[in-house]
Amino acid sequence: MRQLEQYTIKDAEETYLVPYWGHGFFRVGRQGEMEVTPLGPDGPGVSLLEVVRRLEDEGRPFPMILRFPQILEARVRELNEAFRAAIAKYGYQGAYQGVYPVKVNQRRVVVETIARAGRPYAFGLEAGSKAELALILAQELAEDALVTCNGFKDEDFVRLALMGKKLGKRVVITLEKFAELARVLRVAHELGVRPLLGLRFKLRAKGSGQWASSGGEGAKFGLSAPEVLRAVEVLREVGMLDSLVMLHAHIGSQITDIRRIKAAVREAAQTYVQLRRLGAPIRYLNLGGGLAVDYDGSKSAFYASANYTTWEYAEDLVYVTKEVADQHREVHPILVTESGRALTAYHSVLVLQVIDVIRPPGEAAVEVPEDAHQLVKDLEEEYKSLTIKNYRDIYHDALNDKETIQTLYDLGLVSLRDRALAEALFYQIARKIHRLIRTLDYVPDEFEALPKLLADKLVCNFSLFQSLPDTWAIKQLFPIVPLARLLERPTREATIVDISCDSDGKIDRFIDLKDVRHTLPIHDLRPGEPYYLGVFLTGAYQDVLGSTHNLFGRVLEAHVRVEEHGFVVERVVGGEKARRVIEKMGYETEDLTRAMAAVLEEADGLSPEEKREFLERYRNELVGYTYLED
Ligand SMILES: *Cc1c(COP(=O)(O)O)cnc(C)c1O
Repeated sequence: MRQLEQYTIKDAEETYLVPYWGHGFFRVGRQGEMEVTPLGPDGPGVSLLEVVRRLEDEGRPFPMILRFPQILEARVRELNEAFRAAIAKYGYQGAYQGVYPVKVNQRRVVVETIARAGRPYAFGLEAGSKAELALILAQELAEDALVTCNGFKDEDFVRLALMGKKLGKRVVITLEKFAELARVLRVAHELGVRPLLGLRFKLRAKGSGQWASSGGEGAKFGLSAPEVLRAVEVLREVGMLDSLVMLHAHIGSQITDIRRIKAAVREAAQTYVQLRRLGAPIRYLNLGGGLAVDYDGSKSAFYASANYTTWEYAEDLVYVTKEVADQHREVHPILVTESGRALTAYHSVLVLQVIDVIRPPGEAAVEVPEDAHQLVKDLEEEYKSLTIKNYRDIYHDALNDKETIQTLYDLGLVSLRDRALAEALFYQIARKIHRLIRTLDYVPDEFEALPKLLADKLVCNFSLFQSLPDTWAIKQLFPIVPLARLLERPTREATIVDISCDSDGKIDRFIDLKDVRHTLPIHDLRPGEPYYLGVFLTGAYQDVLGSTHNLFGRVLEAHVRVEEHGFVVERVVGGEKARRVIEKMGYETEDLTRAMAAVLEEADGLSPEEKREFLERYRNELVGYTYLED
């Protein structure tokens, strides 16, 4: 057999597209292991497998989230430096003061790290609810950093925001609805606070894809043009127009096409000019979130990608705003953005352990006995006569024969043995066709499903609904890469299934530069050797949207800092115990244990010893981990 050419680091990086989506934070290392480089490609790298091994040695269970606060710091720096550079490049007279919308990830380490890294840039935070504002007000920010309050607000929310203002924080209340104005004015009067107000304007411009409905005239949030005028009039009448300091517009998350962003900025900037002309002293132009993450690395307007960089984004915002303001001889506003996804996506990696492989039938040679059913023999014949010239006809015949056998089986006319033979032969035929057509330029549509049909299913110890909810909810794509063996050519293709009892708990869509792949290249698993998969770019939204479907709880997480030589696990936060998730559903564990004891009391056929043992076990399960532990 011809010696296979060596599979190199470069080959692995191309297979898994690491340089395309990795943003300089991830690479394939010399040992063929995935490495994290939080300080950039020239900084030190650490093998993720080493981190995982250390945690495993400490007895930490799977699945686990590895968080890299240094990546959050790098992202905060990059965003702010991009705006600084654009401001210098175009001679922009205003400044940039972004805020981080905490709804994207409210985990303590995330918010505190961003707040700390943002202090030199007067970077602020954004709240969309009372609870979010409560945690934000306790953060230490630069003196002039903004705290913006979006979302629907009741009196308590408004009161909390105004108290923040009274405490000297720069809290801006964004009016999402016209009706909020009267409420804010009443509470402000009551507290004797001069509020800082923003108006969320419903732009005509829209995003695209998943979040298109966040923008446009039909959007849930924001004031229409007539409402904006009315709000200005009301504020003028009560002598509060000087409180109106911010114009806010947000057309949705993951805006993949820069042209949509430019159109929105232009419309928002014109509205800024119009409001200034009406006498509102708007200082801040807040362009919301939407800065996209290139999950598949294709640098395109595809929904899992982005056809622009953070630097181009900053340049376009600065340039278009300047152009519009100059056209009308208005002062350049302070630019605000609310980028959440782009700041947080990169910082966390979900690590999955493969616990089992489900392989489709027909890999081993099939022996057809003399007395097998005629259709089984036909299938064997079809397999033997299969060539590149007749594969379509053969495939149709084989499909037919397999279905007929299954029908005959239902009627009791075919044995289980013959049915098994037929299925194995059918898969052999499918496998042979798959091999033959790999070399063809054109593959008929009906064969596109073959790779998925023939793929292994890797069973991983996790719940998709807890850890990757967007995979299920909005078909989000995340890069997935084996953590090791990356100097070996992957020889198999697989999809991933979780341990929830929900057939939606699977991943069968993977990143690709041109399209979406339906299988992931993996290695042949070696008995007794663990195999780990890293799911990357999971830091935005997944932590908060995850649910306890099947009562799988929050997973363990480790905060890791990379140093010149090696790494430090700064903190480990344990996963949720079963008790916690059960209690969230309204049970008292005491009651459950008592009820269980009563059932045991009544039970016949168990010795007192067995009863005691059972109750002991039950108590222990209530405090056990929710995922598989051996
Ligand atoms: C969700 C949200 C954001 C965050 O958007 P990203 O695309 O994650 O940056 C910003 N602003 C508002 C008003 C939001 O609702």
